[in-house]
Amino acid sequence: MDLAGSPVCWSAGLSLKKTITPALPWRFTRRFAVSLAVLIGGITFTGSLQAWGKLSGKISGRAILIPGQTFVSILLALSIVASMVLFAGGPALDLDSSIVFYVFLVLVVLSLVLGIIGVLPIGGGDMPVVIALLNSCSGLAAAAAGFVIYNNVLIVAGCLVGCSGLILTIIMCKAMNRSLGNVLFSGFGATTQSSDSEVTGEMKAASIEDAYYVLESARSVVIVPGYGMAVAQAQHAVKELGDLLEANGCEVRYAIHPVAGRMPGHMNVLLAEADVPYEQLAEMHDVNPIMTTVDVAIVIGANDVVNPAAANDPASPIYGMPIINVHEAKTVYALKRGKGAGFSGLVNTLFFLDNTRMLYGDAKGTVSALVAEF
Ligand code: NDP
Repeated sequence: MDLAGSPVCWSAGLSLKKTITPALPWRFTRRFAVSLAVLIGGITFTGSLQAWGKLSGKISGRAILIPGQTFVSILLALSIVASMVLFAGGPALDLDSSIVFYVFLVLVVLSLVLGIIGVLPIGGGDMPVVIALLNSCSGLAAAAAGFVIYNNVLIVAGCLVGCSGLILTIIMCKAMNRSLGNVLFSGFGATTQSSDSEVTGEMKAASIEDAYYVLESARSVVIVPGYGMAVAQAQHAVKELGDLLEANGCEVRYAIHPVAGRMPGHMNVLLAEADVPYEQLAEMHDVNPIMTTVDVAIVIGANDVVNPAAANDPASPIYGMPIINVHEAKTVYALKRGKGAGFSGLVNTLFFLDNTRMLYGDAKGTVSALVAEF
């Protein structure tokens, strides 16, 4: 039996009505496309499962290193290349005697394992980039499958998904001031480092009344929304507070970090839903230069994107990621429920600074209480 009648091609959706005896280049090209689809699809499948587990808190969101990570990864990559060559260049598939089918099965298993090994050492603030890259890979896997079954629509749609995912990945890397290689491989050979132990001092709580008096006399306020605002669904209350501050003669800006929340554009969507005027939204690089002139920065459920350790602690895992410099404002109010860490699992030194006061509680409740105070 030739390739056309093999389970490999059944899975690829080929019509098995007629038997074909292809020449080697034809067979090689087609099998190479099959192996690419399997490789990219396998990595995407197990990588995405892990990303889901990390995002939903089912498994630790931190980077996890297995013993001999680099060695295992190189061995795995070499085994995959060998199986691809054996599969693509092997003889016509004969279910009774050919080992090509078993090589194919090995390739499937190795691809699934590579997805696990590849995403394990990535964690914290790097996960959004990985998610965008996996999205892109799902498109490329579909495009490769399109070559196998000669389906132009699949090829074009897969390429579009692949390219747009890649563009998004590059934009996110730029926003985090990292290269893609650094995001994917920086966990390799890393030691388990944490800047948690370096933090001294205490987080100082403030009351709603205290915050009201400071806000009432403020002339310029920057509101920094984060994941906690999305959880609390506080965007409408936030808009109400912004309107009240404006009516009080204060200049109000909403500073948006590119990776605030849990998906690109998360904060923009929420604020648009609450009818916050587009002109009041400010990009990180526009708002940072004027931060020293800001009277009050209100951090609403944001954590990693305002962590000063990213700017001044070279030992921090998020060192080098651009942040919104709220710590430079005259006064900072941080709204969160308790002492929970951000997505990266790091302690935020911002909350321990002298000019920072904590407003504990669900963000919606706290902002509504401030609105009521006004
Ligand atoms: P973080 O995840 O760093 O912090 C969120 C904070 O919100 C927590 O400290 C939590 O503290 C607080 N919080 C949670 N629920 C509430 C609530 N109901 N009311 C008030 N506060 C609450 O958020 P950031 O937006 O600062 O950063 C986003 C992080 O997510 C980055 O690390 C980014 O890399 C990552 N990420 C981003 C994606 C994207 O595309 N935007 C995708 C995936 C990940 P407490 O528990 O004490 O309340």
